[in-house]
Amino acid sequence: MPLIDTAGLQKEYDVIVVGSGAAGGQTAYTLTLDGAKVLMLEAGRNYVPELETAMFQTPDQAPLRGASTLDKEFGFYDATVDGGWQIPGEPYSSASEEKERKFWWWRARMLGGRTNHWGRISLRNGPYDFKPHSRDGLGFDWPISYEDVAPYYDKVEMLIGVHGDNNGLENTPDSPDGCLLPSPKPRASELLIQKHAKKTGVPVIAIHRAVLTKPLDYKRNAALLHPGNPRAQQLAADGMRSRAPCFWATPCGRGCSIKANYQSTTVHLPPAMASGNLDILANAMVREVEMGKNGRATGVVFIDKTTGKELRAKARIIVLAASACETVRILLNSKSAQFPQGLANSSGNVGKYLMDTVGASVSGQIPALENMPAHNEDGAGGEHVYAPWWLYKEQKAGKLDFARGYHIEIGAGRDMPSFGAAAGLANFTGGYGKKLKEDMRRYYGSFISLVCRGEMIPNEDSYCEIDPQSKDKYGIPALRFHWKWSKHEERQAVHSHKAFTEVIENMGGRVTSKQDLLPGGFIIHEVGGAIMGADPKKSVVNQWGQSWDVKNLFVTDGAPFPSNADKNPTLTIMALAWRSADYMLAAMKRREL
Ligand SMILES: Cc1cc2nc3c(=O)[nH]c(=O)nc-3n(C[C@H](O)[C@H](O)[C@H](O)COP(=O)(O)OP(=O)(O)OC[C@H]3O[C@@H](n4cnc5c(N)ncnc54)[C@H](O)[C@@H]3O)c2cc1C
Ligand code: SF4
Repeated sequence: MPLIDTAGLQKEYDVIVVGSGAAGGQTAYTLTLDGAKVLMLEAGRNYVPELETAMFQTPDQAPLRGASTLDKEFGFYDATVDGGWQIPGEPYSSASEEKERKFWWWRARMLGGRTNHWGRISLRNGPYDFKPHSRDGLGFDWPISYEDVAPYYDKVEMLIGVHGDNNGLENTPDSPDGCLLPSPKPRASELLIQKHAKKTGVPVIAIHRAVLTKPLDYKRNAALLHPGNPRAQQLAADGMRSRAPCFWATPCGRGCSIKANYQSTTVHLPPAMASGNLDILANAMVREVEMGKNGRATGVVFIDKTTGKELRAKARIIVLAASACETVRILLNSKSAQFPQGLANSSGNVGKYLMDTVGASVSGQIPALENMPAHNEDGAGGEHVYAPWWLYKEQKAGKLDFARGYHIEIGAGRDMPSFGAAAGLANFTGGYGKKLKEDMRRYYGSFISLVCRGEMIPNEDSYCEIDPQSKDKYGIPALRFHWKWSKHEERQAVHSHKAFTEVIENMGGRVTSKQDLLPGGFIIHEVGGAIMGADPKKSVVNQWGQSWDVKNLFVTDGAPFPSNADKNPTLTIMALAWRSADYMLAAMKRREL
């Protein structure tokens, strides 16, 4: 993608967007297709999926057969070309030495951020998920309801392409006709899980993932997405037409050079660039937002990583979309006489109520899946089915010892063996030589894993703040994390173990391993830290992601989430980013911003 360099920076823009992932990509797309002049500042390097994606390479072509290493934690071919749990020269810390109280922070420093790798699971929050406090008295309600966000879920699904079915289940919203693409057929192992899970009342249904199972209906979708704007329709349609549908063969975590799955770099940024309204500057590490005398933000200060120089950019509106914790870090580092505790922090809540997703799992071996004839089950990258939370009624009747719920993600099938698969089998069978080969054929594809992804309720003990001792290599103060799961999350994980064991035993299988509740941050669904609300004293932004304190400052990543439903957050991040951008456009047209 032809990006600008620092010499190409304009004197002033309508909007500066910090970050180019799901949030930054969606914000810039909506703004630029409607004519706003946008500068996107991205801390990572440029990344071109069409040229850089290792789609067809096999593990034997990689160093260490593609094994995970410290700089490539998800393996050699992973699309995260820069980033991980640790980034050299960019530290963060945890206040506690206790294992359970540490927070793991995954950062992808590259154009498109984490969307180049993410799992593409794209579930809508349901009506209950926007009003959790009203239901059980815990956490916070959102200042908006499902009905406010639903039209934006529709738009995002039509733009990025999400496959899935409608099932009419409680708090698991259906999409209107024409939003979803057809689901891929379940794999043999997934059908078997579906059949036996039903015996314990667990509904296994088609998952929603951002993968094109057929070409998008570009004329229809573009017209619905941008009514009355022929230029935007053309740009959106051109973007959709340039994407090929999935050919069911390659691991999505490496990215998709044919643009079949959603990445900001292949879906949001190309039409935004084609509009002529977007300048993207890579290697631009934003340090702080600058304020003018009139109480308005005037621009940002950033470090040009290629020269180490401190530079400035100016705009009418500043949007932070740097990922929840990075956005918090920028706000807390933006100190001024008016905001000595950090920008937009009159409530004292910037950094507070950090959340992740509850993660736990059980794996099992299923004799009925042994000795399968050789066949390809690669499919559309990840799982084709999942189970939404199914115990709302039991919970309401007081039969569970925890609040909120979890959905089940399912790992099963016979896809391309990755590094370590053979060693795992050898450990399982204990065989050697000819017997080991026979065992490999017998057992490969007979293992399943059932994975809990549960809701975390915001709590006072989970937050991030500036570490007074630590700065990164650019001189920017680093973050320090505080973390604690509550009994609700701990009990969810325990409940999931029992439920998953029952499913595996129903299948005639046996449990081979269990994963207890994973540490905070490990599921990489960080949200919160600048929560939205109806009361400026208790929240950082309003329902539009607009700072209560600084009217031309917006946050469009996951930081404004006041709760973290079990549903993976990214579809909601994009829906809210589109909604916020529409609000900015209208306010700019009225000259209020
Ligand atoms: C392995 C994995 C699997 C996942 N699976 C799923 C899934 O299936 N479903 C789901 O919903 N979510 C999933 N997620 C989470 C998903 O990736 C995130 O929710 C989503 O990417 C958040 O979008 P974002 O724009 O807020 O942040 P990001 O995508 O992280 O983008 C933020 C961008 O901002 C840039 N940036 C940061 N700081 C600065 C700065 N100071 N100056 C300038 N730029 C900056 C970063 O370099 C980055 O490019 C997964 C994540 C991972 C890593
Ligand atoms: S499985 Fe499909 S969507 Fe995923 S990388 Fe391969 S072609 Fe792309």
